[in-house]
Amino acid sequence: NAKAKGRGRFQFYSGEMNARALQRLRMENELRKAIDNNELRVAYQPKVDVQQRKIIGVEALVRWEHPKQGIVSPAEFIPLAEESGLIVDIDNWVLHKACHQASEWLNMGITCPVAVNVSALNFKKTNLVERIKTALREADLPASLLELEMTESIVMSDIELNTERLTQLKEMGTSISIDDFGTGYSSLSYLRRLPIDQVKIDRSFVNEIDCNNEDMAIVKAIIAMSTTLKMEVIAEGVETTTQTEKLSKAGCHRLQGFLYAKPMPAKFATETLLAGFDALPAAKKLATATS
Ligand code: C2E
Ligand code: MG
Ligand code: MG
Ligand code: MG
Repeated sequence: NAKAKGRGRFQFYSGEMNARALQRLRMENELRKAIDNNELRVAYQPKVDVQQRKIIGVEALVRWEHPKQGIVSPAEFIPLAEESGLIVDIDNWVLHKACHQASEWLNMGITCPVAVNVSALNFKKTNLVERIKTALREADLPASLLELEMTESIVMSDIELNTERLTQLKEMGTSISIDDFGTGYSSLSYLRRLPIDQVKIDRSFVNEIDCNNEDMAIVKAIIAMSTTLKMEVIAEGVETTTQTEKLSKAGCHRLQGFLYAKPMPAKFATETLLAGFDALPAAKKLATATS
């Protein structure tokens, strides 16, 4: 009896696991076809400098417009794409799209650097540099207008290889940002030796600085480190004017977050870039908050 029950439970779990595995498999197959079926989109989120009162660039963020499920967030499909290796093709697709967009802006007289996210698997591929060169050439975009964002864990994983890889990317003329900074385990002595242009303070610290002194202390430490190592620093996930004031006062004037602009389709991003910083609703709020 107990045995039968046990077996029943086992079958229950295994049935549930099968269902989940099947669902994943289905998603993976659909994702495999998403590029060819033209279901991927790129959203662009502006980055601002509140001291210069300028939009200083945009980040390209992938979206999947699933025929039945609607917009699927990257948080859901990026991990799947990483496990299956599909991320390399996705990153590459976003890279091409983003380079073409930045080139189009350049032709309109808008000089706007575009940042793309580079996943771990993509970074490790030996042909990364070649693929980036191809994308730049095909889009006729100067390398200086392309920025590569990669997380701390990627940059810190295989220091020998990564130093070489990052140096190649730098020599090509692209700039390099460390994404989600503060969440990983950076070795400061390695960081100093790497050709990093900018660190992005992770949203989790920015979130809390309104009420949490420890997070503000971490943010200040990251800003101090960046200054010492002659890197730019930008905060991600800025949602309030209080956060803006605290960050700005601490010396971080580059900000990105919903307060300024959400990720948006190219058409709206173009309008936003044409209108400029002062046309952002938050910019008006800031002006009244600081005057
Ligand atoms: P990330 O690169 O750190 O991008 C920032 C994420 O935070 C984006 O989420 C953005 O929409 C969101 N965000 C920006 N400002 C705010 C804010 O003020 N509040 C809140 N709550 N969120 C904000 P998204 O687009 O869902 O992307 C999530 C992650 O997926 C990205 O984090 C990145 O790691 C990954 N990802 C997105 N696109 C790509 C891609 O093309 N390639 C790769 N490899 N990864 C990508
Ligand atoms: Mg990013
Ligand atoms: Mg980030
Ligand atoms: Mg983040």
